[in-house]
Order: sequence, then structure tokens, then C-alpha cells
Amino acid sequence: MDSRISGFYKLPVAKRRAEIAERADLSEEAVEAIGGTGLTEDLADTVSENVIGTLEYPISVATNFRIDGEDRLIPMAIEETSVVAAASYAARMTRTEGGFETDVDAPRMIAQIQAVDVTDPQAARMRILKEQDRLKELADEQDPTLVKFGGGCEDIEVRIVDSPNGQMVVTHLIVNVQDAMGGNAVNTMAEALAPEIEELTGGDVEMRILSNLADRRLARATCTIPPEELADEDSEFTGEEVRDRIVDAWAFAMGDPYRAATHNKGIMNGIDAVTTATFNDWRAMEAGAHAYAAQDGYDSLTSYEVDGDGNLACSIELPIQVGTVGGATGLQPVAQAAMEILDVDSAPEMSGVLASVGLAQNVAALRALVSEGIQQGHMQLHAQNIAIQAGAEGDQIDEVAERMIEEETIGQSDAEQFLSELEE
Ligand code: NAD
Repeated sequence: MDSRISGFYKLPVAKRRAEIAERADLSEEAVEAIGGTGLTEDLADTVSENVIGTLEYPISVATNFRIDGEDRLIPMAIEETSVVAAASYAARMTRTEGGFETDVDAPRMIAQIQAVDVTDPQAARMRILKEQDRLKELADEQDPTLVKFGGGCEDIEVRIVDSPNGQMVVTHLIVNVQDAMGGNAVNTMAEALAPEIEELTGGDVEMRILSNLADRRLARATCTIPPEELADEDSEFTGEEVRDRIVDAWAFAMGDPYRAATHNKGIMNGIDAVTTATFNDWRAMEAGAHAYAAQDGYDSLTSYEVDGDGNLACSIELPIQVGTVGGATGLQPVAQAAMEILDVDSAPEMSGVLASVGLAQNVAALRALVSEGIQQGHMQLHAQNIAIQAGAEGDQIDEVAERMIEEETIGQSDAEQFLSELEE
């Protein structure tokens, strides 16, 4: 499968859908789901409480990705303009040097069990560690299916946490959750172990829940971009200048949390869009990414440097906590179709794809920000949105949008005026 689709963005929606169906060899159900309305009310009613209807997102496909030697189409659900185009643009720049390479940890989540009012925290820690084999067995008994698939509780660690309310003994269950996100799986284990921990510590167990700082489940991606890919002939800067300005932009994010927040938000634009498209838990992803970025003072999740050949060497490392099974992923027909497009065999494989998408998003944003700026790219779709809000329909949408861009004035009242002139 070739993920480069020339002129894809110019096709009408139905033709794009057909093109993806063919390239990704989608099932009939998947094609039908993408073209339909996704969640039925009955299904929606099982996903959340007090449901009164459903909300539709655009589902798009980013092209040009080559990850670990394999071309991939990336399903993305996002309401922000330019994100999908930017991901595809950056992925294309990486292809001359082979695309993205990934390295992903085993899918290990952490569950925390908090014991308070422990009189001898150090000794309590030793008592828990001495019993760790029995505790691991008890944890595994909670989820024979997970164990059958090769997962289960692999380790037990005990930390003594100094808190405003004094010392707490915090037990970590390190659980291999295989292809699941693992939230429910590890919470069940933590709850089951609570009475044992209470007995071993002699204290009170209060909290029993996973940590979204999933730092045993890191995904890394790298790519290399030659300077000539970073600037075209119309650019104000040479490729080398753009490359060096990107390294400066990264250094800015390393030195200033005000910049790092936006830098990392851009990374999550891509990651959250795939997480949403597959009905995974994007809040878990967000919490994990920002907590990881904050470990030594909040800074960038990506790194940039110039390699010995003068190319831009780009990398990313962050926790990725997604599942290809479990949670709500199987309930949403469009999300299942998105999984078919993604075509991954395991949660770790999916994590590598997500890390690559995050890196692509960041490269694209930095390249635009240090050269022509991002507003130019944003404006076409933004102008169309404003035109629609002003009441434009059909061909009027492009006509009003183009007029606003030409006259460099994009706003609701301008759109209304241009629309009334068109209708005269
Ligand atoms: P789950 O319980 O629906 O599915 C996981 C289960 O699927 C495993 O426990 C296992 O029994 C079974 N399974 C079958 N095949 C498997 C395979 N190949 N690999 C692994 N497991 C397999 O869901 P989950 O993944 O345990 O939990 C995910 C949900 O937890 C999400 O919906 C998330 O929103 C929610 N959650 C998140 C948080 C948080 O992030 N703080 C807290 C609570 C709940």
C-alpha cells in the first residue's frame, strides 16, 4: 500500500472515501460506517449517562506516512483546521530519509494503592515487598483473560511519599496490559489488593487507581529531514536557515514553559486526533503527556538537532496509553473503521504510530512558525467556516472565502457584506 495519494485533498469527500477503502482494503461495514452517522442512540446510551443525542466530528485521513518501513494511512478526528494537512505535509518531508522509526516499551501500566496512618512506613514497605509473589498472584487472579494473552502483574514497587498530611506508603502494581489501555484492568487489581496492603501496613488504604503518568509505557519516534525539504523556492529562507530556526524554536520550548505548553499542545493535536478517531481515552493521553513533560521542569516532548550530514534529526518520547481492545473502542462503528485504516496488530504498534504522528505534527508546526507563519495555511478553511456562518451555501462559500482572503479581511460582518453583494 502506498500512503502517498497525489491530489487527495482535491477530491470530493465520497471519492476520498472510496480511495481509502481501496488502499486500506476496508470491509463493507467499515465503508458504510464512515459514510453514515456512526453511533446510534442505543449504542450512545451504553457509552455515557444522561445521553440526549450524539455529536459528529469530521473523520479525515493523513497521507504520506511511512513508519518502520511500512506505509500507513492515519485516521484523524479533529475540529481544528490545518492539523491533518500539516501532518501529511511533514510526513512527506520525512520520506526521502525513510520516514519514521519507532521504539516502544512493553505496555506496562501502573496502579497505585495509597496507605495512610502507617506507623512504620519503612518496615511496612519491607513487609509488602517480602509478600510480592503472593500479591502478584492475587492480582493476576483478577484477570485470567489478560494473563491468557500474556499480560499480568509483573512487578510490585513501594514508595514512601512525603505529603502535606505526612508520610504515605504507596504501592505500585506494574501490570503488563498487552493490547488494552488497561484502566479498568489495573483498577480492579488495585481494589482487590487493598485489604492485603491494609493488613501488611497496619494503616488505612484509601486511594486505589491507575496513574496516568504511564512512564513504563513510553513510545519513541525519530525521523531525519534534509534541509532542502524544509524550504521551497518561494521561501524567504534557505532550508539550512529553516532547519536552524527549528532548532532555536525547540530550544525556546526547552527554556520556557509558556512556549513549551503550546509546543506540546501542537504535538497533542495529532495524537489526540488519532486517539479520538479510534475512540480511545484522549484525557489519559493528555494527562500522561503533560505530566511526563513536567518531570524535570515543564519542557518539550520532542528534540531537534543537526546531524553530521547537516540534516534535521527529530525525535519524540512520551507515554502512550491506548488500547486496540477494551474500553469503548469496540462500541463505535466509525472508530472500528478507523482501526481498519490504521491496520495495527497490537497496542505497542499503535503507540509507535501515535508517537510518529505527534512528531510529524510538531515538525510541521515549527517549520511553518519559523518561516511563513501558520495563519496563511489556517486562513482558507477558517474563511470558509466564517462564510458558512454568515449564511453562504454551495459555490458561495468559496467565493465569499476567496474575496475575504483577497481583501485581507476575514470576519463575520465582511462575510455577510460580500454575501449580500453576491446575491444582488
Ligand atoms: P476493558 O476492561 O474494557 O478491557 C481490558 C480487558 O480486555 C482486559 O482486562 C482483558 O481481560 C481483556 N482482553 C481481551 N483481549 C486482550 C488483549 N489482547 N490484551 C489485553 N487485554 C485483553 O478496558 P481497559 O483497557 O482495562 O480500560 C480502558 C478504559 O478505562 C477506558 O475506557 C478508560 O477511559 C477507562 N478508565 C481510565 C481511567 C484513567 O485513565 N484515569 C480511569 C478509569 C477508567
